[in-house]
Amino acid sequence: MTSIEHNLQQVRQRISAAASQCGRDPQEITLLAVSKTKPASAVAEAAAAGQRCFGENYVQEGVDKIQLLADLNLVWHFIGPLQSNKSRLVAENFDWCHTVDRLRIATRLNEQRPDNAEPLNVLIQVNISDEQSKSGITLAELPALAQAVAQLPRLRLRGLMAIPAPEAEYERQLAVCQQMAAALKELQSDYPEVDTLSLGMSDDMDAAIAAGSTMVRIGTAIFGARDYGSVANHNN
Ligand SMILES: *Cc1c(COP(=O)(O)O)cnc(C)c1O
Repeated sequence: MTSIEHNLQQVRQRISAAASQCGRDPQEITLLAVSKTKPASAVAEAAAAGQRCFGENYVQEGVDKIQLLADLNLVWHFIGPLQSNKSRLVAENFDWCHTVDRLRIATRLNEQRPDNAEPLNVLIQVNISDEQSKSGITLAELPALAQAVAQLPRLRLRGLMAIPAPEAEYERQLAVCQQMAAALKELQSDYPEVDTLSLGMSDDMDAAIAAGSTMVRIGTAIFGARDYGSVANHNN
């Protein structure tokens, strides 16, 4: 067994354990394998071990892998900060964008999504706990942005994403994750087709799953530590 295959098995077991701990069906939780800075060969290896969904943070690096691995029929999620001048590449190549946090970006993605493609699945990024971070909107801003995004025909509003500030204590992780779960529930009452909460990384996965996450984003535990020096151009 390759180490990627072995690691995937371990991560899937962690997801299953966290799900059964709180009485959820592990099938409700999608594992997003975060392959940023990793070569296409590592993605292909994970795909051979049954992994379908991959997350990328850097637009051009992601597009290169998407094009190289086009015949594997993988599902590609853009999860990095998105600048306007890179939105076309995301609209033309990815299946999902997790980091919509302003109308200007949503409008551009909508205009740039090719007519022959399915609508782009989008998540609105909420800045739930990290005041330092520039990414994400506040919960107070959510209803207006959601309403605007829901009207764009080439986008499909699927839910919310957050990157909570690092927090060692489980109870505090859980409290933040529960705020996100409540926000999703509220959104679902206006938009019943909303079904996705992208929440949980290696250190807070158990709390995220207990709160109701439907998609956890895991990189290092699958692909090993990242070597940023090996990526020629990762500044988006
Ligand atoms: C890098 C990244 C991850 C994965 O982080 P690991 O520590 O490698 O598991 C998850 N979500 C986002 C938004 C990321 O940028």
